Amino acid sequence: MSLPVSVPDEPEMALARGAALASANAPIFASSIAALAQAVGKATNYAHTALLYVEPHTATLAVVNTADGSVADVRRRFLPEDDDEAVAELVEMVTGVAEMEAHPEGVVVVGSGVDVPLIKPALEAGTSLPVSVPEQPKVVLARDAAPASANAQLLNATAFLEARNLCKSFGRWPTETPILKNIDLRISPGEFVALIGPSGSGKSTLLSILGLLEPPTSGDVLINQKSVARLSRQQLARLRGRAIGYVFQSFNLLAGLSVAENVMLPGLLAGESGRAQYDWAIALLDQFGLAALAKRVPAELSGGEQQRVAIARALFMRPAVILADEPTGNLDTINGRKVIDALYNLNSAGQTIVLVTHDRSIADEAPRLVSLLDGRIETDSGPIQVTSGVAWRAHN
Ligand code: ADP
Ligand code: MG
Repeated sequence: MSLPVSVPDEPEMALARGAALASANAPIFASSIAALAQAVGKATNYAHTALLYVEPHTATLAVVNTADGSVADVRRRFLPEDDDEAVAELVEMVTGVAEMEAHPEGVVVVGSGVDVPLIKPALEAGTSLPVSVPEQPKVVLARDAAPASANAQLLNATAFLEARNLCKSFGRWPTETPILKNIDLRISPGEFVALIGPSGSGKSTLLSILGLLEPPTSGDVLINQKSVARLSRQQLARLRGRAIGYVFQSFNLLAGLSVAENVMLPGLLAGESGRAQYDWAIALLDQFGLAALAKRVPAELSGGEQQRVAIARALFMRPAVILADEPTGNLDTINGRKVIDALYNLNSAGQTIVLVTHDRSIADEAPRLVSLLDGRIETDSGPIQVTSGVAWRAHN
């Protein structure tokens, strides 16, 4: 019961979680945890902030450097079943914070499936450091009130997504190479757009600019007729978090987290965690027939299942648009089919989807087909009329 704070008898788990926090493979998790701790550090002028991430069965403590968001120290513990014992364990962790590397000046507590405000007083009693619990935004209430599994719940925001005379070059003069050339593209709510083109034609570059992951060299990205060009980095990050759900060829699930926790990560990034978020993650997994796998870790799932978990995660913030970059690229035909069917089903519920693929047979099913060649739009079958929020051609 009274183990030292740095669990030496569980080095592999601690390493796995530490790796999840620090590794380049986990930019979403690393940046969300670090960003949260960093934001608190900035608001309070701490040089280092301790972030305690509490899950139903485990707790992770990370010390984050406010200046650069880097993780200075990570510790993890399993929590006892009994609530009182678990709280005692957490208090002990927090008590040990003062001895951690880099001497944090305050503790931020984030819960996932755990009622953090309830345990805050106990934690405060355990340390002389200030303890803060990020506030739950109002949106949580709306989500709480949403019916558990109607398709309508997927229809949160809608947005027109537009590229205007978009150009992108890499490198610097005089060796600068143009990659995207004068791209004009307008995607309406409810559309399913397949983007095809040979390798190197600029599909991923276009998708990441549309997804606000990188800026164009010239031209404009507009969301609901508004240019994003003058938004600050923070405003962009917030808009991206709310408006865009990204799915990559590699599933980018975090090995140290359960399936449900992986789905909930975007919520954590936005400072939303709790029972409502857990229930929402389960409802999303349920849409893809994966609810029974919620407690497993990604390695126990097939590739197709993992990719559908990644799609559930992309849907967590109810984004206006799902951007999927070769989501079937690492899958066999059967698993790839299931992922594509999942995307079509989402679209039939009104979700706007842009799918990059070089599989012609998949692209041919799409209501709208846009092909890229050498950084230009070669053909565009054109927007189709979206009626009652559905742009789906039956494909049985
Ligand atoms: P696609 O997804 O269609 O295969 P990409 O958009 O990934 O194409 O890449 C288009 C071209 O841009 C390729 O020639 C690629 O090498 C180049 N490119 C992509 N990203 C970068 C970058 N960060 N720096 C330099 N060149 C890049
Ligand atoms: Mg690509």
